[in-house]
Amino acid sequence: MTPEIRDKYTVVIGLEVHAQLLTVSKIYTPDSTAYGSPPNTNLSAITLAHPGTLPKLNKKVVEHAIKMGLACDSDISRVQIFDRKNYFYPDLPKGYQLTQDRTPMCVGGYITITTKAGNLDIPLNRIHIEEDAGKSIHLENETDTLVDFNRSGVPLIEIVTEPSIRSSEAAAALLAEIRKLVRYLEICDGNMEEGSLRCDVNVSLRKLGESRLGTKVEIKNMNSIRNMMRAIGYETRRQIALLESGESIVQETRMFEVETGKTYGMRVKETMNDYRYFPDPDLSPVVISDQWLEQIKAEMPQLPVEL
Ligand code: ADP
Ligand code: MG
Repeated sequence: MTPEIRDKYTVVIGLEVHAQLLTVSKIYTPDSTAYGSPPNTNLSAITLAHPGTLPKLNKKVVEHAIKMGLACDSDISRVQIFDRKNYFYPDLPKGYQLTQDRTPMCVGGYITITTKAGNLDIPLNRIHIEEDAGKSIHLENETDTLVDFNRSGVPLIEIVTEPSIRSSEAAAALLAEIRKLVRYLEICDGNMEEGSLRCDVNVSLRKLGESRLGTKVEIKNMNSIRNMMRAIGYETRRQIALLESGESIVQETRMFEVETGKTYGMRVKETMNDYRYFPDPDLSPVVISDQWLEQIKAEMPQLPVEL
């Protein structure tokens, strides 16, 4: 691709970063969150969604998530409910994931990154808490899928940026900054290889002079900053080639293949309302009192930008 063609477009990037929170027990059950335990040892009847079992929220999860929100200057939602996100997956025994759709823990805010052109504030859309799913394991020469539920119910925050990142370098700087922040706050170990920090990257292209955003493609589960940059680079070239030949971009979820450096289509993105979100009737709303918020503020360490 010639630089002249490349320069006709701006890349538009938004990140969805999942960080596993450092808690002793899971988000709604007393099971251990220890990484690397033998398969299916960190689970109880609640994690396995046996009939009659009920979730109970881990207070530490709320405190960790609020710390991230405070560090990003987000508004903290003072009354929160949990929503069921319904979908079927072998490693999701309930048939739904508990998340926050209507009342994310933190709204707005920003994270400052350093680029060659100086400091840049990347605006956040929201930070919400949710539970991780288990792991499906496909072994070679094994026709059945094996399932490990240890990760099921491990607490996560999802940090969702606005689509306002304009280069793979800026996306990399942001992910590095998030990793630094969660480590400073001691809310996540930031280990991308072990999957404690994972990133979905949304990429679209916009012709210069155009004000509307283009159709985005979501690339799932990047497990290193380098691979995320490779995926953005490949996706930029792929989309420009399509647009230049007069084709349109299909909104879809794609996977990145580490060996080839290419992305490939996984599924066409579910249309709206497919998840049938609704408030979970088993968990009562969480109310963040002034006193609790002050206490969490008092526990905040000094942040890197303040040093
Ligand atoms: P969805 O409903 O598909 O999950 P959202 O609007 O909630 O979409 O956005 C999810 C992520 O995609 C966010 O990080 C957001 O910044 C990013 N995003 C949204 N639109 C675009 C776009 N046109 N190009 C690039 N990223 C985008
Ligand atoms: Mg998404």
